[in-house]
Amino acid sequence: MGQITLEKVTKRFGDVEVIPPLDLTIQDGEFTVFVGPSGCGKSTLLRLIAGLEDMTTGTISIDGQDATDTPPAKRGLAMVFQSYALYPHMSVRKNIAFPMRMAGIDIAEQNRRIEQAAAALNLTDYLDRRPGQLSGGQRQRVAIGRAIVREPEAFLFDEPLSNLDAALRVGMRLEISELHKRLATTMIYVTHDQVEAMTMADKIVVLRAGHIEQVGTPLELYHTPRNSFVAGFIGSPKMNLITGPEAEKCDAHTIGIRPEHIDVVDGEGLWTGKVGVAEHLGSDTFFHVQDTGLAETITVRAPGEVNYRHGDTITLNPRPDQVHRFDAQGLRIA
Ligand code: ADP
Ligand code: MG
Repeated sequence: MGQITLEKVTKRFGDVEVIPPLDLTIQDGEFTVFVGPSGCGKSTLLRLIAGLEDMTTGTISIDGQDATDTPPAKRGLAMVFQSYALYPHMSVRKNIAFPMRMAGIDIAEQNRRIEQAAAALNLTDYLDRRPGQLSGGQRQRVAIGRAIVREPEAFLFDEPLSNLDAALRVGMRLEISELHKRLATTMIYVTHDQVEAMTMADKIVVLRAGHIEQVGTPLELYHTPRNSFVAGFIGSPKMNLITGPEAEKCDAHTIGIRPEHIDVVDGEGLWTGKVGVAEHLGSDTFFHVQDTGLAETITVRAPGEVNYRHGDTITLNPRPDQVHRFDAQGLRIA
Protein backbone atom coordinates (compact mmCIF):
# COMPACT_ATOMS: atom_id res chain seq x y z
CA MET A 1 0.00 0.00 0.00
CA GLY A 2 1.20 3.51 -0.65
CA GLN A 3 -1.62 5.95 -1.29
CA ILE A 4 -0.69 9.50 -0.36
CA THR A 5 -3.24 12.30 0.01
CA LEU A 6 -2.48 15.98 0.55
CA GLU A 7 -5.33 18.26 1.60
CA LYS A 8 -5.18 22.05 1.69
CA VAL A 9 -1.43 21.91 2.17
CA THR A 10 0.47 25.19 2.31
CA LYS A 11 4.09 26.05 3.03
CA ARG A 12 5.58 29.40 3.92
CA PHE A 13 9.21 30.29 4.48
CA GLY A 14 8.88 33.46 6.55
CA ASP A 15 6.62 35.79 4.56
CA VAL A 16 6.98 33.88 1.33
CA GLU A 17 4.26 31.42 0.44
CA VAL A 18 6.08 28.79 -1.57
CA ILE A 19 3.14 26.37 -1.76
CA PRO A 20 -0.31 27.98 -1.97
CA PRO A 21 -3.22 25.73 -0.90
CA LEU A 22 -2.77 22.45 -2.71
CA ASP A 23 -4.75 19.20 -2.92
CA LEU A 24 -3.30 16.07 -4.48
CA THR A 25 -3.86 12.33 -4.34
CA ILE A 26 -1.23 9.84 -5.42
CA GLN A 27 -2.62 6.37 -5.98
CA ASP A 28 -1.03 3.22 -4.65
CA GLY A 29 1.54 1.83 -7.06
CA GLU A 30 1.52 4.87 -9.30
CA PHE A 31 4.65 6.46 -10.78
CA THR A 32 4.00 10.16 -10.31
CA VAL A 33 6.36 12.83 -11.59
CA PHE A 34 6.45 16.39 -10.23
CA VAL A 35 7.79 18.58 -13.00
CA GLY A 36 8.25 22.33 -13.31
CA PRO A 37 10.89 25.00 -13.67
CA SER A 38 13.66 25.42 -11.13
CA GLY A 39 12.41 27.05 -7.92
CA CYS A 40 8.73 26.17 -8.45
CA GLY A 41 8.53 24.16 -5.21
CA LYS A 42 9.05 20.56 -6.32
CA SER A 43 11.62 19.69 -3.67
CA THR A 44 9.64 21.52 -1.01
CA LEU A 45 6.54 19.50 -1.86
CA LEU A 46 8.50 16.24 -1.77
CA ARG A 47 10.09 17.18 1.56
CA LEU A 48 6.64 17.97 2.98
CA ILE A 49 5.51 14.49 1.97
CA ALA A 50 8.66 12.97 3.48
CA GLY A 51 8.13 14.96 6.68
CA LEU A 52 11.51 16.67 6.33
CA GLU A 53 9.71 20.04 6.28
CA ASP A 54 6.71 20.95 8.39
CA MET A 55 3.59 22.07 6.56
CA THR A 56 2.34 25.54 7.46
CA THR A 57 -1.25 24.30 7.20
CA GLY A 58 -3.02 21.25 5.82
CA THR A 59 -2.95 17.51 6.30
CA ILE A 60 -1.24 14.54 4.73
CA SER A 61 -2.44 10.99 4.96
CA ILE A 62 -0.64 7.82 3.96
CA ASP A 63 -2.84 4.79 3.28
CA GLY A 64 -5.78 6.55 4.85
CA GLN A 65 -3.94 7.25 8.11
CA ASP A 66 -3.31 10.86 9.13
CA ALA A 67 0.47 11.28 8.97
CA THR A 68 0.59 15.07 9.44
CA ASP A 69 2.47 14.78 12.73
CA THR A 70 4.28 11.54 11.98
CA PRO A 71 8.08 11.93 12.03
CA PRO A 72 9.93 11.15 8.75
CA ALA A 73 11.36 7.84 9.92
CA LYS A 74 7.90 6.52 10.78
CA ARG A 75 6.21 7.42 7.48
CA GLY A 76 7.46 4.34 5.66
CA LEU A 77 8.85 6.43 2.81
CA ALA A 78 12.36 6.25 1.38
CA MET A 79 13.98 9.23 -0.27
CA VAL A 80 16.71 9.20 -2.94
CA PHE A 81 18.49 12.48 -3.60
CA GLN A 82 20.55 13.93 -6.41
CA SER A 83 23.66 13.85 -4.24
CA TYR A 84 23.58 10.28 -3.09
CA ALA A 85 25.86 10.76 -0.06
CA LEU A 86 27.30 7.27 0.29
CA TYR A 87 29.75 6.52 3.11
CA PRO A 88 33.10 6.45 1.29
CA HIS A 89 34.87 4.20 3.81
CA MET A 90 32.12 1.54 3.76
CA SER A 91 31.64 -1.20 1.17
CA VAL A 92 28.58 -1.19 -1.06
CA ARG A 93 27.14 -3.97 1.11
CA LYS A 94 27.58 -1.90 4.28
CA ASN A 95 26.17 1.21 2.63
CA ILE A 96 23.05 -0.69 1.60
CA ALA A 97 22.79 -2.34 5.02
CA PHE A 98 23.08 0.94 6.87
CA PRO A 99 19.38 1.85 7.26
CA MET A 100 18.60 -1.74 8.29
CA ARG A 101 21.35 -1.69 10.90
CA MET A 102 19.85 1.54 12.27
CA ALA A 103 16.44 -0.14 12.36
CA GLY A 104 17.86 -3.16 14.20
CA ILE A 105 16.88 -5.71 11.56
CA ASP A 106 18.55 -9.09 12.12
CA ILE A 107 21.56 -10.05 10.03
CA ALA A 108 19.97 -12.91 8.09
CA GLU A 109 17.11 -10.67 6.99
CA GLN A 110 19.57 -7.86 6.19
CA ASN A 111 21.52 -10.21 3.93
CA ARG A 112 18.39 -11.49 2.22
CA ARG A 113 17.30 -7.95 1.36
CA ILE A 114 20.80 -6.91 0.25
CA GLU A 115 21.08 -9.87 -2.14
CA GLN A 116 17.63 -9.14 -3.52
CA ALA A 117 18.27 -5.41 -4.01
CA ALA A 118 21.71 -6.08 -5.51
CA ALA A 119 20.19 -8.52 -7.99
CA ALA A 120 17.48 -6.02 -8.96
CA LEU A 121 20.07 -3.30 -9.49
CA ASN A 122 22.88 -5.34 -11.09
CA LEU A 123 25.15 -4.70 -8.13
CA THR A 124 25.80 -8.29 -7.08
CA ASP A 125 29.41 -8.21 -8.29
CA TYR A 126 30.13 -4.89 -6.64
CA LEU A 127 28.99 -5.51 -3.07
CA ASP A 128 32.54 -5.59 -1.69
CA ARG A 129 33.71 -2.46 -3.47
CA ARG A 130 33.81 1.00 -2.01
CA PRO A 131 31.85 3.88 -3.59
CA GLY A 132 35.10 5.40 -4.91
CA GLN A 133 35.57 2.28 -7.06
CA LEU A 134 32.21 2.69 -8.79
CA SER A 135 30.94 4.78 -11.70
CA GLY A 136 28.39 7.55 -11.12
CA GLY A 137 25.55 5.36 -12.33
CA GLN A 138 26.57 2.50 -10.06
CA ARG A 139 26.74 4.85 -7.08
CA GLN A 140 23.27 6.12 -7.82
CA ARG A 141 22.10 2.48 -7.93
CA VAL A 142 23.65 1.89 -4.50
CA ALA A 143 21.65 4.87 -3.20
CA ILE A 144 18.50 3.33 -4.67
CA GLY A 145 19.46 -0.03 -3.15
CA ARG A 146 19.67 1.62 0.25
CA ALA A 147 16.10 2.82 -0.28
CA ILE A 148 14.81 -0.55 -1.55
CA VAL A 149 15.97 -2.53 1.49
CA ARG A 150 13.79 -0.40 3.70
CA GLU A 151 10.82 -1.89 1.83
CA PRO A 152 9.04 1.46 1.87
CA GLU A 153 5.39 2.22 1.10
CA ALA A 154 6.69 4.72 -1.43
CA PHE A 155 9.95 5.94 -2.94
CA LEU A 156 10.58 9.66 -3.21
CA PHE A 157 13.20 10.67 -5.77
CA ASP A 158 14.51 14.24 -5.94
CA GLU A 159 16.23 14.78 -9.31
CA PRO A 160 18.28 11.62 -8.80
CA LEU A 161 19.85 11.66 -12.25
CA SER A 162 20.87 15.32 -12.56
CA ASN A 163 24.51 14.58 -11.73
CA LEU A 164 24.88 11.93 -14.41
CA ASP A 165 25.95 12.48 -17.99
CA ALA A 166 23.31 12.33 -20.73
CA ALA A 167 23.88 8.72 -21.83
CA LEU A 168 23.85 7.42 -18.25
CA ARG A 169 20.70 9.39 -17.52
CA VAL A 170 18.84 7.64 -20.31
CA GLY A 171 20.05 4.25 -19.05
CA MET A 172 19.13 4.96 -15.42
CA ARG A 173 15.75 6.33 -16.49
CA LEU A 174 14.95 2.94 -18.00
CA GLU A 175 16.31 1.11 -14.98
CA ILE A 176 14.12 3.07 -12.60
CA SER A 177 11.08 2.50 -14.81
CA GLU A 178 11.80 -1.24 -14.89
CA LEU A 179 12.32 -1.27 -11.14
CA HIS A 180 8.93 0.34 -10.72
CA LYS A 181 7.30 -2.34 -12.89
CA ARG A 182 8.95 -5.07 -10.84
CA LEU A 183 8.32 -3.64 -7.37
CA ALA A 184 4.93 -2.07 -8.18
CA THR A 185 5.58 0.36 -5.32
CA THR A 186 4.39 3.97 -5.36
CA MET A 187 7.11 6.29 -6.67
CA ILE A 188 7.17 10.06 -6.66
CA TYR A 189 9.88 11.47 -8.87
CA VAL A 190 10.88 15.13 -9.06
CA THR A 191 12.54 16.55 -12.14
CA HIS A 192 12.78 19.80 -14.10
CA ASP A 193 13.29 17.74 -17.26
CA GLN A 194 10.05 17.29 -19.15
CA VAL A 195 11.51 14.44 -21.21
CA GLU A 196 12.14 12.46 -18.01
CA ALA A 197 8.60 13.27 -16.94
CA MET A 198 7.08 12.18 -20.25
CA THR A 199 9.05 8.95 -20.50
CA MET A 200 8.73 7.74 -16.90
CA ALA A 201 5.41 8.90 -15.50
CA ASP A 202 2.06 7.21 -15.16
CA LYS A 203 0.89 10.60 -13.97
CA ILE A 204 2.55 14.00 -14.29
CA VAL A 205 1.92 16.90 -11.91
CA VAL A 206 3.00 20.17 -13.56
CA LEU A 207 3.93 22.83 -11.01
CA ARG A 208 4.46 26.55 -11.39
CA ALA A 209 5.16 28.80 -8.38
CA GLY A 210 3.95 26.05 -6.04
CA HIS A 211 0.65 25.81 -7.86
CA ILE A 212 -0.56 22.71 -9.71
CA GLU A 213 -1.12 23.73 -13.32
CA GLN A 214 -2.31 20.30 -14.49
CA VAL A 215 -2.36 16.65 -13.49
CA GLY A 216 -2.60 14.01 -16.18
CA THR A 217 -0.97 11.22 -18.10
CA PRO A 218 1.90 12.24 -20.39
CA LEU A 219 -0.31 12.03 -23.47
CA GLU A 220 -3.19 13.93 -21.85
CA LEU A 221 -0.77 16.76 -21.19
CA TYR A 222 0.62 16.54 -24.70
CA HIS A 223 -2.75 16.47 -26.47
CA THR A 224 -4.86 18.68 -24.22
CA PRO A 225 -2.73 21.06 -22.17
CA ARG A 226 -5.07 22.97 -19.90
CA ASN A 227 -3.25 26.26 -20.39
CA SER A 228 -0.49 27.87 -22.41
CA PHE A 229 2.08 27.28 -19.65
CA VAL A 230 1.64 23.50 -19.78
CA ALA A 231 1.45 23.70 -23.57
CA GLY A 232 4.84 25.41 -23.71
CA PHE A 233 6.44 23.30 -20.98
CA ILE A 234 5.56 19.82 -22.26
CA GLY A 235 7.02 18.80 -25.60
CA SER A 236 10.36 19.27 -27.31
CA PRO A 237 10.99 21.37 -29.28
CA LYS A 238 8.48 23.63 -27.57
CA MET A 239 5.03 24.29 -28.97
CA ASN A 240 4.87 27.45 -31.11
CA LEU A 241 2.68 29.99 -29.32
CA ILE A 242 1.38 32.74 -31.58
CA THR A 243 -0.51 35.88 -30.59
CA GLY A 244 -1.90 38.77 -32.60
CA PRO A 245 -4.12 38.79 -35.72
CA GLU A 246 -3.36 35.16 -36.59
CA ALA A 247 -4.78 34.06 -33.21
CA GLU A 248 -7.69 36.51 -33.44
CA LYS A 249 -8.73 34.89 -36.75
CA CYS A 250 -9.19 31.73 -34.66
CA ASP A 251 -11.16 33.56 -31.95
CA ALA A 252 -8.30 33.15 -29.51
CA HIS A 253 -5.73 35.28 -27.71
CA THR A 254 -2.99 32.75 -28.39
CA ILE A 255 -2.85 29.76 -30.69
CA GLY A 256 -0.42 26.90 -30.22
CA ILE A 257 0.93 24.48 -32.77
CA ARG A 258 3.60 21.87 -32.11
CA PRO A 259 6.65 21.81 -34.42
CA GLU A 260 5.78 18.24 -35.47
CA HIS A 261 2.31 19.35 -36.56
CA ILE A 262 3.47 21.80 -39.20
CA ASP A 263 3.96 20.52 -42.75
CA VAL A 264 6.27 22.02 -45.33
CA VAL A 265 4.29 22.26 -48.55
CA ASP A 266 5.18 22.77 -52.20
CA GLY A 267 2.15 24.77 -53.22
CA GLU A 268 -0.27 26.91 -51.25
CA GLY A 269 0.25 27.25 -47.54
CA LEU A 270 -0.62 29.49 -44.62
CA TRP A 271 2.82 30.91 -43.87
CA THR A 272 5.73 31.60 -46.23
CA GLY A 273 9.03 32.61 -44.71
CA LYS A 274 12.77 32.14 -44.65
CA VAL A 275 14.72 29.42 -42.90
CA GLY A 276 16.91 30.82 -40.14
CA VAL A 277 18.79 28.12 -38.27
CA ALA A 278 18.38 24.48 -39.30
CA GLU A 279 19.34 21.80 -36.77
CA HIS A 280 20.20 18.45 -38.34
CA LEU A 281 19.81 15.62 -35.85
CA GLY A 282 19.79 12.85 -38.43
CA SER A 283 16.57 11.31 -37.14
CA ASP A 284 14.83 14.69 -37.43
CA THR A 285 15.47 18.18 -38.70
CA PHE A 286 14.38 21.21 -36.70
CA PHE A 287 14.24 24.47 -38.57
CA HIS A 288 13.37 27.92 -37.38
CA VAL A 289 11.43 30.01 -39.85
CA GLN A 290 11.31 33.81 -39.84
CA ASP A 291 9.77 36.59 -41.92
CA THR A 292 6.40 34.86 -42.18
CA GLY A 293 4.58 38.04 -41.22
CA LEU A 294 4.14 36.67 -37.69
CA ALA A 295 5.96 38.25 -34.77
CA GLU A 296 7.16 34.82 -33.67
CA THR A 297 9.83 32.61 -35.19
CA ILE A 298 8.16 29.31 -36.12
CA THR A 299 9.89 26.07 -35.23
CA VAL A 300 9.18 23.10 -37.47
CA ARG A 301 10.14 19.50 -36.86
CA ALA A 302 10.40 17.30 -39.92
CA PRO A 303 11.27 13.60 -39.71
CA GLY A 304 14.57 12.53 -41.23
CA GLU A 305 17.00 14.66 -43.16
CA VAL A 306 15.60 17.74 -44.83
CA ASN A 307 17.97 19.82 -46.86
CA TYR A 308 16.75 23.32 -46.26
CA ARG A 309 19.46 25.84 -45.70
CA HIS A 310 19.73 29.20 -44.07
CA GLY A 311 17.89 31.76 -46.22
CA ASP A 312 15.75 29.29 -48.20
CA THR A 313 12.14 30.36 -48.70
CA ILE A 314 9.59 27.76 -47.58
CA THR A 315 5.84 27.51 -47.16
CA LEU A 316 4.27 26.00 -44.07
CA ASN A 317 0.88 24.60 -43.24
CA PRO A 318 -0.15 23.94 -39.65
CA ARG A 319 -2.50 20.95 -39.42
CA PRO A 320 -5.87 22.52 -38.57
CA ASP A 321 -6.96 19.72 -36.20
CA GLN A 322 -3.75 20.20 -34.18
CA VAL A 323 -4.16 23.89 -33.42
CA HIS A 324 -4.62 24.66 -29.70
CA ARG A 325 -6.45 27.83 -28.68
CA PHE A 326 -5.97 29.80 -25.46
CA ASP A 327 -7.75 32.86 -24.05
CA ALA A 328 -6.19 36.04 -22.62
CA GLN A 329 -5.69 34.27 -19.28
CA GLY A 330 -3.87 31.49 -21.06
CA LEU A 331 -6.65 28.98 -20.45
CA ARG A 332 -7.47 26.42 -23.09
CA ILE A 333 -10.53 27.15 -25.21
CA ALA A 334 -12.38 23.87 -25.85
P1 ADP B 1 12.50 23.32 -6.87
O1 ADP B 1 12.85 22.05 -6.19
O2 ADP B 1 11.28 23.24 -7.71
O3 ADP B 1 13.65 23.89 -7.66
P2 ADP B 1 12.33 24.36 -4.17
O4 ADP B 1 11.22 23.56 -3.59
O5 ADP B 1 13.70 23.97 -3.80
O6 ADP B 1 12.16 24.43 -5.75
O7 ADP B 1 12.13 25.87 -3.78
C1 ADP B 1 10.92 26.56 -3.95
C2 ADP B 1 11.07 27.98 -3.44
O8 ADP B 1 11.19 27.95 -2.02
C3 ADP B 1 12.27 28.71 -3.96
O9 ADP B 1 11.90 30.03 -4.22
C4 ADP B 1 13.27 28.60 -2.84
O10 ADP B 1 14.14 29.69 -2.84
C5 ADP B 1 12.37 28.61 -1.61
N1 ADP B 1 12.95 27.85 -0.48
C6 ADP B 1 13.23 26.54 -0.47
N2 ADP B 1 13.71 26.16 0.75
C7 ADP B 1 13.74 27.28 1.49
C8 ADP B 1 14.14 27.56 2.85
N3 ADP B 1 14.58 26.60 3.66
N4 ADP B 1 14.03 28.84 3.27
C9 ADP B 1 13.56 29.81 2.47
N5 ADP B 1 13.16 29.62 1.20
C10 ADP B 1 13.24 28.37 0.71
MG1 MG C 1 14.62 20.91 -6.21
